[in-house]
Amino acid sequence: MLRRRALLQSAALGAVSALVGRSTVDVQLIRPGDAAYGDAKLGYFTQYDAQRPRAIAKVLTPADVQRCIEIARQERTRITARCGGHSYPGYSTADGALVVDVRGLNRIDVRADGTAEVGAGVLLMDLYIALANAGRMMPAGTCATVGISGLTLGGGIGMTARQFGLTCDRLVSARIVTPDGVHRTVSETEHADLFWALRGGGGGNFGIVTSFVFRTEPARDLTTFALTFPSAALASLLSAWPDWQGKAPDALTSTLGVGSGATPHVEVSGCFAGTQVNLKPVLDDLVRRVGAQPTSRRETEQGFLAAMERFAWCRVGDGSCRPSWNGGGGSQPRGSYVATSRMLTKPITDPQKLADVFRNTPNSYNMIDGLGGAVGRGPATAFPHRGALASIQVELSLQAGEANARRAMGVARDELGKMFGANGYVNYIDPQMPDWAQAYYGSSLTRLREVARKYDPDRVFTFAQGLA
Ligand SMILES: Cc1cc2nc3c(=O)[nH]c(=O)nc-3n(C[C@H](O)[C@H](O)[C@H](O)COP(=O)(O)OP(=O)(O)OC[C@H]3O[C@@H](n4cnc5c(N)ncnc54)[C@H](O)[C@@H]3O)c2cc1C
Repeated sequence: MLRRRALLQSAALGAVSALVGRSTVDVQLIRPGDAAYGDAKLGYFTQYDAQRPRAIAKVLTPADVQRCIEIARQERTRITARCGGHSYPGYSTADGALVVDVRGLNRIDVRADGTAEVGAGVLLMDLYIALANAGRMMPAGTCATVGISGLTLGGGIGMTARQFGLTCDRLVSARIVTPDGVHRTVSETEHADLFWALRGGGGGNFGIVTSFVFRTEPARDLTTFALTFPSAALASLLSAWPDWQGKAPDALTSTLGVGSGATPHVEVSGCFAGTQVNLKPVLDDLVRRVGAQPTSRRETEQGFLAAMERFAWCRVGDGSCRPSWNGGGGSQPRGSYVATSRMLTKPITDPQKLADVFRNTPNSYNMIDGLGGAVGRGPATAFPHRGALASIQVELSLQAGEANARRAMGVARDELGKMFGANGYVNYIDPQMPDWAQAYYGSSLTRLREVARKYDPDRVFTFAQGLA
């Protein structure tokens, strides 16, 4: 793919010539008209392909990031960071913006003390490979091509969450270029307010992170599992699952997945940080509580990397874990769907009603991801949903058109809101979420806005659902 290093100058961003010469730093830049532009501007979701960023800056160093922020400030141009590009509303490929693509900041250094320094542009499967090679593991999300930046900044729910916490809970420190252009280290002892905010305050706020340091765990074998239940058992499963998963050992993290239509696919899948022998009675207990035998049941003991491949539905060796866009060189397909979320804050007292919401949301797949355990006991961070039993994500394919999907999604979101409260998970950010700031940040909102005002008083990092 054609890429080049060019001064970020007037042809791309208007009258920036006043800046040229003030800084000696140049950044790799792709502009409209360049052969590489069509691919370089793409995010994960196909429905935003018509968005046209003003330029894509391929940053390779923190100094490149500083230069981009300097220019955005001078030119009053919109600026947005992009890591994995999985932003549900397409915020990281925004129209008219300078997209700061951090994928070149991709170093991973797993240290002897068990911490790992991870560049802000690393994708999840590359992190898993590096950790596994060093005999380590850590909790993060399921999709191979999700970026470590967006995931961590919004929280990070994964298949070992109840055992090891959220991804952001493992953060020891981060390096970030704040809107004043300073490259800072933030931790419990340095800029503690910003460190708090970066753990759940959501991507795109406060500046551009350049690297993270995480606490990791020794790698261990995991038992992955999947039980498919008859559609007719859905209400009984919805009633049984929250109490079952809440009382299960922390080693168990599970997802209840439900399709749409009259006879939906109904599945409980997940991961047990232990052996198949020890998992068996836990799953038997679920089957007993549901009162219906699964139509299929699988339990597989496997290494950490193999388990992550299974959740990501890809194989490291054949390129299917790498993006098929943005020069990723792989075959992982892009997404064409919209999504929203609510938090499950209390037991499901009317399982039939919830079953109807899922069944009646056309072309949807609905996932209830178990929380509690280490997530509930997690450190004081901006992530506001420590008390939630689970998150509920509703995904709708675009086969009936985006407008219809968004309409149906709104109906499901409102119904779930009435049942469980007007909240949601910021990493499943929904541009139509009513009262979005309160929904995503709850009790953390006031402090998050104070932190945004302190570090970004000139509102350099603004977007429709931004904190600045
Ligand atoms: C297929 C799929 C699977 C998913 N699986 C999970 C899962 O298992 N668990 C989970 O918790 N979530 C999951 N998510 C949600 C995911 O965590 C969010 O979409 C997340 O924001 C994606 O991060 P990204 O870096 O890939 O996206 P991007 O679009 O690159 O970034 C997301 C936001 O963060 C900002 N940002 C990016 N890089 C930086 C940076 N360096 N500094 C500051 N801001 C930055 C962007 O501007 C944007 O606003 C999934 C999403 C998809 C589409």
